[in-house]
Amino acid sequence: MTPAAQLLAGMQRMAHTGLNQGTSGNLSVRTPEGFLVTPSGVPVERLRAEDMVPMRLDGTAHGHTRPSSEWRMHRDLYAAFPAAQAVAHAHPPHATALACRREGIPAFHYMVAVAGGHDIRCADYATFGTAALSTNAIAALRGRTACLLANHGILAYGADLERAIALALEVEALARQYLLARQQGEPVLLDAAEMDNILVRFKSYGVQPDQEETP
Ligand code: 13P
Ligand code: ZN
Repeated sequence: MTPAAQLLAGMQRMAHTGLNQGTSGNLSVRTPEGFLVTPSGVPVERLRAEDMVPMRLDGTAHGHTRPSSEWRMHRDLYAAFPAAQAVAHAHPPHATALACRREGIPAFHYMVAVAGGHDIRCADYATFGTAALSTNAIAALRGRTACLLANHGILAYGADLERAIALALEVEALARQYLLARQQGEPVLLDAAEMDNILVRFKSYGVQPDQEETP
């Protein structure tokens, strides 16, 4: 699949899984020249692979459509995190509800470590599409591969588009579980030593024998 076809399929997947609706959210993949990003304000039903916008890291766009209003956030993320090959931004209900309280997700469940640390932070509020939002998001992502965006949604990156979207889905599931648990009272949090233990276990989790590195 071409990178443009991947972005189209990714936007459709985000809509079908409930991560996004309407024109909410955007996706990008890193390219040799910079990155390829979804266009701004196009509903997923009307989106076509040829509408994706090639951009350079200097912020210049080379498509026939306008790039996502969040292109700076994508660009700054690629510049700050060399491991990022794809970026997913979405407005899913549960993670966004939590972000509207300007709260992150603490270590209430071991899967919180899926984003790389002991918690998933919520970036400080800034207006959508601004350099300030990008700055706040990059700060919240230090040592993590996902964060919430205050009064807005979520941001995740990965080694490819499939993994970036899978992480966004996992964060949304965690936000839902956390909100449900809180309806019964304050959940018991895992301590720092246990989260460190989980982070070590995650290094080999899901690695099949034929994928193991030989010393
Ligand atoms: P775009 O349609 O410009 O990508 O904007 C959607 C969005 O989620 C802005 O934060
Ligand atoms: Zn958004």
